Amino acid sequence: MRVGIEQRTLRLLRPLRTSYGELAERTIIELEIEGADGVAGRGEAAPLEPYDGVSVSRALAALEAYRPILEDGDALQGGDLLDACRSLDALPQALAAVDMALWDRAGRRAGRPVARLLTEPVLDDVRVNATIGAEDRAGAAASAAAARQAGFRCVKLKVGIGDDAGRVAAVRAALGSDAELRLDANGAWGVDEAVATIDALAAGGLELVEEPVHGLGPLREVRERVAVRIAMDETAAQPGALASGAADAVCLKLSRCGGISGLLACASLVRASGAEPYVASTFDGPLGIAAALHAAAALRIRAACGLATLELFADVDHPLDVRDGAIAVPRGPGLL
Ligand SMILES: [Mg+2]
Repeated sequence: MRVGIEQRTLRLLRPLRTSYGELAERTIIELEIEGADGVAGRGEAAPLEPYDGVSVSRALAALEAYRPILEDGDALQGGDLLDACRSLDALPQALAAVDMALWDRAGRRAGRPVARLLTEPVLDDVRVNATIGAEDRAGAAASAAAARQAGFRCVKLKVGIGDDAGRVAAVRAALGSDAELRLDANGAWGVDEAVATIDALAAGGLELVEEPVHGLGPLREVRERVAVRIAMDETAAQPGALASGAADAVCLKLSRCGGISGLLACASLVRASGAEPYVASTFDGPLGIAAALHAAAALRIRAACGLATLELFADVDHPLDVRDGAIAVPRGPGLL
């Protein structure tokens, strides 16, 4: 196969303050493979070093190591190709690019969208949430009102960053009573603080609280002590976390799971434990968002997913706009 590997830097419209520092741009690596039949497939590696500890150069090195395997890979099945790459370097972020490109190529060969290669029936669109990071009441309320106006029916508010009670009340007032309000503490609290804070905030009507604390034991304890549903995000990367049943819901990321195939496997573990999976991006590019949409559609995920992140970038062309709080799953062959 012909193999192309290319870095692409995406600039954010405005720098984003996150729990791991300020983000002004991010670099992704696009992989294109084209078989002897002339059909191409594309995928992307989206490591985010401050978040997952994986640098762009690390992911690039893994993809370059895969290159000879892919170049000689015309005769191999997709699963065997992925296994060969994995045995050389098991970096999920790089494997995700290969997995996506193989699914994209398979979809193009079959003339079907990837979701419909995975299963039938699939969702036509995937519900998504808006994310509010404003640290003041007025700013948070304005963002919530804008999100509601734009059609979002689920809003995620970052908490553990000061005046949580005031911002939760302001956001709920701006949203009205029928929209879902989800909180994300990014592990900012200890167990007792999480329990006390969640109890105090629960009157705001909460869909769930994501990662109130880090770690399986602490999450389990918080979940047992509060009435609000608890989700794990960062902790999901720990060994054994997905099947632990320590939380009511688990946030899965395409990049961390190693692509579409990995995400489906992770979601099965989560569901087997009795918990509910949903999907979020790590500021992925359009290919990563499209792949996550196909996976979420095939999994028929009803909870809002954190995939409305392409609008944070400047100068990125894509057809994945949010309408009425959801993104339509691409209907053409392949991913996009
Ligand atoms: Mg989170």
